Amino acid sequence: MHDVAVFDELKVGGLTLRGITRGGIETCLMVPELGVMFDVGMCPPGALKYDNILVSHGHADHLGGVAYLVSQRNLMRAPPPAIHLPQEVHEPLTRILRAWAEIEGFDLKWQLHGHAPGDRFSLGAGLARGCAATCLRTTHRVPSLAWVVERTTSRLKPEYVGLPGPEIAELRRSGGDVLDAHTEPLLCVTGDTQIEFFHQHELARRCRVLVHEVTSWTDERDVEQTRRWGHTHLDELVAASEQFTGEALVLVHRSMRHSRAEAERLARQRFPAGVRDRVVVFGH
Ligand SMILES: [Zn+2]
Repeated sequence: MHDVAVFDELKVGGLTLRGITRGGIETCLMVPELGVMFDVGMCPPGALKYDNILVSHGHADHLGGVAYLVSQRNLMRAPPPAIHLPQEVHEPLTRILRAWAEIEGFDLKWQLHGHAPGDRFSLGAGLARGCAATCLRTTHRVPSLAWVVERTTSRLKPEYVGLPGPEIAELRRSGGDVLDAHTEPLLCVTGDTQIEFFHQHELARRCRVLVHEVTSWTDERDVEQTRRWGHTHLDELVAASEQFTGEALVLVHRSMRHSRAEAERLARQRFPAGVRDRVVVFGH
């Protein structure tokens, strides 16, 4: 059972990030405002409520809890959650779930959707109304995806801004199209990746909240060693960080070699002044 003390919770950019992001151990990040959970390293308290699960890749610390989660949802007689994952993982995970159904002697139901980079789909009419998820290729040791959630809202066209309400109403009544669709990238969660992802995806760099992995924080594991394992080193993100234009750069997936206090001290020391106040270390 999870010790709730390992949970972290952060309110940032109008969103709550809740969960566990420990490098090599477990990643599971819930965003209640969107009804979306990122990765299923295990199945922590609260995870069974989520109907949309966006998976970065198939390493066990990011996906190892999925059979348990699927089984528990079946026991609850709840519909299976929609689990979105890299297309390469779809078939082998289906084999695992079939084997698990056989072991348990249950007619388990599940809903897996395999995705290629660039796929985009609506997150439905519930909490995430108006939101769509897009997956982008990341650079890791196995096929892996980052997920971006964008929200589209209607805004008055610039030429009508400032017009009195009755006049706008009259325009609408006479069939005028007074609204523009406005799409904002709200949130990106990278999963495991080398720094190339940050350099390659302008969309991620302008998300309101970017949850980026930083596994290594010191020379205990240097940049070259970190890259060999498909991860990001603090030095690399610090060097590129001024390209981030969003509200919050949230650093996750810290190796257990580094305490939170050490990471917070390094973040304050190392990030340039223009970025420092937007950087948050997540996870105990
Ligand atoms: Zn991994």
